[in-house]
Amino acid sequence: MTPGGGGAGASAAAALRWLAAMGADEAVEDAPRDRLSAPPPPPPRPAAPPAPRPAAPAFPPSPGSPPGLSIAPTDQLVAEARAAAAAAGDVAALAEAVAAFDGCALKRTAKSTVFADGSAEADLMLVGEAPGAEEDRRGLPFVGPAGRLLDLMLAAIGRDRDSARIANMLFWRPPGNRAPSPEEIALCRPFVDRHIALVHPRVLVCVGGVAAKSLLGRTEGIGRLRGRWHTFAPDGDSGEIPAAALFHPAYLLRQPGHKRQAWQDLLRIRDRLEGEPPAS
Ligand code: URA
Repeated sequence: MTPGGGGAGASAAAALRWLAAMGADEAVEDAPRDRLSAPPPPPPRPAAPPAPRPAAPAFPPSPGSPPGLSIAPTDQLVAEARAAAAAAGDVAALAEAVAAFDGCALKRTAKSTVFADGSAEADLMLVGEAPGAEEDRRGLPFVGPAGRLLDLMLAAIGRDRDSARIANMLFWRPPGNRAPSPEEIALCRPFVDRHIALVHPRVLVCVGGVAAKSLLGRTEGIGRLRGRWHTFAPDGDSGEIPAAALFHPAYLLRQPGHKRQAWQDLLRIRDRLEGEPPAS
């Protein structure tokens, strides 16, 4: 028996809970690997000098290969993402380019590529953070508990998923819903920028602090960025887009006291969409 009762089963369950809390909630290999046992002896040295190694591939190994870190430097992968995004002439081509992009390691632990929902012609575009577990399962953004609140927020200003475009800063779920890393955001960003440029909404809404800081290029928190108008300038595009920051619905579920401010922000967004001059 281990201290605390329950024996080996209880301590294994506690270890599992700890792993899940640390973000290791996905099985990535078929069989467990004991990383604590002694390493295997090194292979014998080759008698002859080894043949020259083939050049490192620009992208990580395709699905099915053992997971590992991406081989190419991030700058090179970001440049690949930029080229692929720029080559997409419409939103359907962009969705294909995102699905074909292997430069973000999250793709190897995610079940789906979550590109977008709603109308590509919408005058209102919302960009959140990253898919969660339910979004990963269904391949659509904002369909979990936070998404259900977002639907209600949209309904409050007379909108639904068909009269808005909904996307995220990342196309793949970070394991355990951990926060996106700056590298992951940089790798997905060219596609996000191209998506916004192609939709070219009348109003862009950054949902939550991660999207707001990244898209608006600011360091302040969401509490300071919300409540006023910003602009987003798509690459290679003439027209700037009015942009607002909104509390993330997942945050509002935890902090319902902030719903009043979110409601004010939604009304400001509705007025702007209806052609009223901005109050700030
Ligand atoms: N949170 C997000 O930011 N995006 C989703 O799609 C779901 C939850």
